[in-house]
Amino acid sequence: MKYDVVIIGAGASGLMAASTLKNKKVCLIDSNKQIGAKIKVSGGAKCNITNKYLSVDKYLGSKELLKSVFQRFDNKTLLDFLNKNGVYPKLDPKIVKGTYFCNSSNDVIKMFQKMIKGVDLFLDHQVQDVISKDDTFIIKTDKKEFCSTKLVVASGGLSYPSLGASDIGYTIAQKFGHSIKKPAPALVGFTVQKEQFWFKELSGLSVDVKVTVNDKEIEGKMLFTHKGCSGPAILSASLYWTKGNIKLNFLPKKDSYLPKRLKKIINEQKIDPKNYLFSPAGNFGYTKAEVTKGGIDTSELDDNLESKLKKNLYFIGEVVDITGELGGYNFQWAFSSAKVPNY
Ligand SMILES: Cc1cc2nc3c(=O)[nH]c(=O)nc-3n(C[C@H](O)[C@H](O)[C@H](O)COP(=O)(O)OP(=O)(O)OC[C@H]3O[C@@H](n4cnc5c(N)ncnc54)[C@H](O)[C@@H]3O)c2cc1C
Repeated sequence: MKYDVVIIGAGASGLMAASTLKNKKVCLIDSNKQIGAKIKVSGGAKCNITNKYLSVDKYLGSKELLKSVFQRFDNKTLLDFLNKNGVYPKLDPKIVKGTYFCNSSNDVIKMFQKMIKGVDLFLDHQVQDVISKDDTFIIKTDKKEFCSTKLVVASGGLSYPSLGASDIGYTIAQKFGHSIKKPAPALVGFTVQKEQFWFKELSGLSVDVKVTVNDKEIEGKMLFTHKGCSGPAILSASLYWTKGNIKLNFLPKKDSYLPKRLKKIINEQKIDPKNYLFSPAGNFGYTKAEVTKGGIDTSELDDNLESKLKKNLYFIGEVVDITGELGGYNFQWAFSSAKVPNY
């Protein structure tokens, strides 16, 4: 049988795409045994689904494409969509400004389960290759082959291989002549050089900081860890860091104060608490990174996420070279990019 549309990936973007396709023969394939593996664990199982302060400035990647997509489906449209389908996220900006969390991430998964009832779902099927013959895509998995007129690649990035991540999206893209902006772990903690080994002594301590990386300033919590540093402000900073120095200001607000343990080390090491420069050694890698930056070059996609090189081939979600800061921006992109194409 030939499907109208095959979607690779039953994660955030693939589920949204499947739920919008009405009156078509649709097939959704995922290597996991359950749908929405990352949705389930996200935001401490409460899924930080979007942000009140959605702005293209919160993303790395083509501002033109982001603008065009968000004009058609933004945070308000997403919240309306969720409310209409029985999910009611609430503003809960305790950790990051403007964040919306659900009661439980299971609410989102259950919503999609209901919405994709008419879709043929093949879980525990690992896509290994795609070829195209005449006007047909042939999708080869470890168990069987599928044929379709249109193909939607919603297979995400390389982060969290334990939740099904693979490089299949990049492999398919390259097969059809696409360029890939080098993928790298993002929203991830930094490892440090020996000059910062004192971070280890403060392991577990969370402090307010302003992090400056390139021309970006990010305020929030930083967590000292055994291997370096993490916490919301550091995770967002990792999106913009490639190499070189990062500046930490441990007194970001007028009423900021230094916790005792930090004050002691700062005095001992004669550090300027408002201007501490350090160069990370690297990061904690794909097993810990919430997202993957880089991906399918957006100059080879049109405004509807369709390939300019191969008709009827779409790339949506994290596999595309667009990545957001911490705070619900990545689900927003996954859902918006899934919603706008007219598959
Ligand atoms: C621990 C964690 C917490 C997070 N929390 C948040 C949060 O609170 N808010 C937020 O905005 N973002 C969060 N993110 C990021 C967010 O989950 C992703 O950006 C988003 O899920 C991307 O959606 P996607 O559909 O592109 O990819 P995914 O949701 O990753 O879906 C891709 C799917 O493709 C499948 N797949 C991959 N390769 C194959 C293959 N070869 N064959 C078959 N199937 C395949 C995978 O199994 C997966 O189910 C979090 C990420 C992690 C890891």
